[in-house]
Amino acid sequence: MNILSTFKRGFEPRSAVIGSAVYCEGDAFLDHSTTEEPGKRLKAVGVELRGPEGESWLVHSSRDTVLSAGAVNTPQILMLSGVGPAAHLRRLGIPVVVDLPVGENLHDHLNMPLYVTLELPVSVTTDKVLTFRQLRKFFLSGEGLLASSAVMGVGSAHRNISLVLFGMGSPDEKVMRDIANMKPQTFSGLFHFNGSNETSKEGFVMLASCLQPLSRGTVSLASRHPFTPPMIDPRYLQQPQDVACLVEAAQVAARVVSSPPFQRLGARLRLPRLEECEDLIPDPHDSGFLECVVRTVAITGYHPGGTCRMGRPRDATTVLDPQLRLGHPRDATTVLDPQLRSVDKV
Ligand SMILES: Cc1cc2nc3c(=O)[nH]c(=O)nc-3n(C[C@H](O)[C@H](O)[C@H](O)COP(=O)(O)OP(=O)(O)OC[C@H]3O[C@@H](n4cnc5c(N)ncnc54)[C@H](O)[C@@H]3O)c2cc1C
Repeated sequence: MNILSTFKRGFEPRSAVIGSAVYCEGDAFLDHSTTEEPGKRLKAVGVELRGPEGESWLVHSSRDTVLSAGAVNTPQILMLSGVGPAAHLRRLGIPVVVDLPVGENLHDHLNMPLYVTLELPVSVTTDKVLTFRQLRKFFLSGEGLLASSAVMGVGSAHRNISLVLFGMGSPDEKVMRDIANMKPQTFSGLFHFNGSNETSKEGFVMLASCLQPLSRGTVSLASRHPFTPPMIDPRYLQQPQDVACLVEAAQVAARVVSSPPFQRLGARLRLPRLEECEDLIPDPHDSGFLECVVRTVAITGYHPGGTCRMGRPRDATTVLDPQLRLGHPRDATTVLDPQLRSVDKV
């Protein structure tokens, strides 16, 4: 099975970014020198755009202001606007508009890649992709192997464990290292490659993952400048349950590979050969070995979320209410007008 995907536009360079949301107190724009006064009613009235040279423009919104800049940049913009953990904002000299736990509660899916070789020629290899026929097919009809994300199947073992099968027999070293920040020796140990890319190997990568991780990280500001990327501390595997779950996910993947349908394709699980784990027995039943592998090769699934947590009002971890509006501030003296609050989404 080939799961269809749509690729329209890639990444575009930005000439300007949203620097902050602009808040208004009553009918007047918020004067940041007065933001920490008690008893204020606030609403978002637009955003400030900032250019790389420091130029800025105000864009007014006639109704709500919706922030949807992703799980990393939405908290960045909110914090630059003075909406965030008060102590963190004060440390950077940002006047506090509302004290809320923005940027906390970050979580992400961590994937454990397991490489499986195949005897039958059923996978996507670089040699099969880079042919005149495939190039022609893609440019004429937008179809074929070049239009594929190589995801051949997804499955769930139980509520918390998922498996994704990437039908790539010859993973590209540069791509893998770019998306996973992998060291060259980790790449070659994981895929059993000898130094260079192998472009005709038949096989696939099984990504074993846990859907509901318990570990929580943070997104915080590195500076007051909107073009400075925020700091991301994912704190993966901080909770022992997440380690145990990924070990179990890898064992489930190993069982799937040894099942009769995969065996008919000549599937063979290649356990990673890693310097970090060389004192341990390379055995899918050995949880100590698998834990070492998880800690060495697991990669982000690029599913960050939770940095503007939705929850019950007055819960100390809540940022957004169930209507995705900024929730009740920790500073009980500040009132965000229920009709006119900014709408922020992550
Ligand atoms: C490699 C990769 C593979 C993925 N695969 C899958 C998958 O198979 N299935 C799946 O469901 N999800 C997948 N995801 C996750 C999915 O892409 C995200 O969950 C989703 O895009 C999040 O949507 P969003 O609108 O919250 O944020 P984004 O898509 O990140 O959109 C935020 C937008 O805000 C813009 N922005 C940010 N800051 C500013 C600023 N200051 N000023 C102006 N604009 C700004 C950004 O340029 C961006 O256009 C993948 C992600 C990656 C990176």
